[in-house]
Amino acid sequence: MADIVFHNVTKRYGDTLAVDDASFTVNDNEFFCFFGPPLSGKSTILRLVLGLETPDSGEILIGGRPVNTVSPAERNVAMVFQNLALFPHMSARDNVRFPLVERRIAEADIQKRVADVAAKLHIGHILHKPPAQLSGGERQRVAIARALVRDPNAYLMDDPISALDARLREETRVELKRIQRELGKTLIYVTHDQEEAMSVADRIAILENGKIRQIGAPAEIYDRPASTYVARLLGSPMMNILKSVRGEGGVEAAEGTIRIADKAAPADAVEIGLRPEDIKVRPWLDRDGTSDGRAGRPARVFEVEPLGGYTVVTLAAGQARLRALLRGQPDIRPDAMVAISCEPGRVHYFGQSGGALAR
Ligand code: ADP
Ligand code: MG
Repeated sequence: MADIVFHNVTKRYGDTLAVDDASFTVNDNEFFCFFGPPLSGKSTILRLVLGLETPDSGEILIGGRPVNTVSPAERNVAMVFQNLALFPHMSARDNVRFPLVERRIAEADIQKRVADVAAKLHIGHILHKPPAQLSGGERQRVAIARALVRDPNAYLMDDPISALDARLREETRVELKRIQRELGKTLIYVTHDQEEAMSVADRIAILENGKIRQIGAPAEIYDRPASTYVARLLGSPMMNILKSVRGEGGVEAAEGTIRIADKAAPADAVEIGLRPEDIKVRPWLDRDGTSDGRAGRPARVFEVEPLGGYTVVTLAAGQARLRALLRGQPDIRPDAMVAISCEPGRVHYFGQSGGALAR
């Protein structure tokens, strides 16, 4: 078992609370992702797991064993290095062998372990090549093989693909997800890219200034963000968050441009959140037309971004700007007047301190 547990772990650097009372459990074989903006404490958490830092308070357990005073070598957790750095002058095989040679393991044992890890990662046929002759995905497999050849309890990655261009990043993250599924080993992964976190992780922990704000499966956090902070971090375009007031039979926002008929709306809601894909946009036919009248006042189309499979429409609704994500390429022009609406069940409600409220 290689589950990794933090109990109320705090780590300070001088006055900076790098990790603030963090508690979580990474399950055996899980792809667990830490996601947050720069300086939110992601790398410090990895260093605490590796044993390169010691907590000021709290306890860390790996496979059920308390490790606060256990050296990095004895924790047997492997770091896959940033940007997948491989030694360019060595063959893939020598790169993978390196950690074992360094530890003066017997040659017969090295050969067996390299063969085992190469079989698991399907790289036996490319071991003779130098990194420069490998594709991005192959290099990633070799870098992971180098980390796994010691048979660690878990492996860690700190923003490993952030330096790649967008197309290669998409390709690499699919590869990474596949590798982790095949290996079935605990992986702790750090990223500051929301799309990457959503796409690869079994579960995500969201960080803000060293504090864990929410832990859950990507879809769970996306559908039920615990606060406006979390809501804004996941999703692109990001969730529209608007000041709201109680209206007849529900809530209103953006000076009556948006009316949500929701008897279940919580009384203490001060903001509503609307995902761009949940906003319906229709032409504003007739100011006195019954259906549009019920929907609220008209909004103006500010700008239209056709992106092929879908279109982002930015709307000027009262003083607010909001973004709607529509399928395909609808016939909507800048400056047109439209009616916007949202199913009550898709509305997120937030209270005074930004915390999510149940309907
Ligand atoms: P992230 O990886 O999310 O960017 P870090 O874990 O690197 O965040 O940093 C968290 C906080 O701790 C930041 O405020 C950073 O400045 C501070 N910090 C990290 N490492 C050190 C260090 N060695 N000395 C002093 N402050 C540090
Ligand atoms: Mg970092």
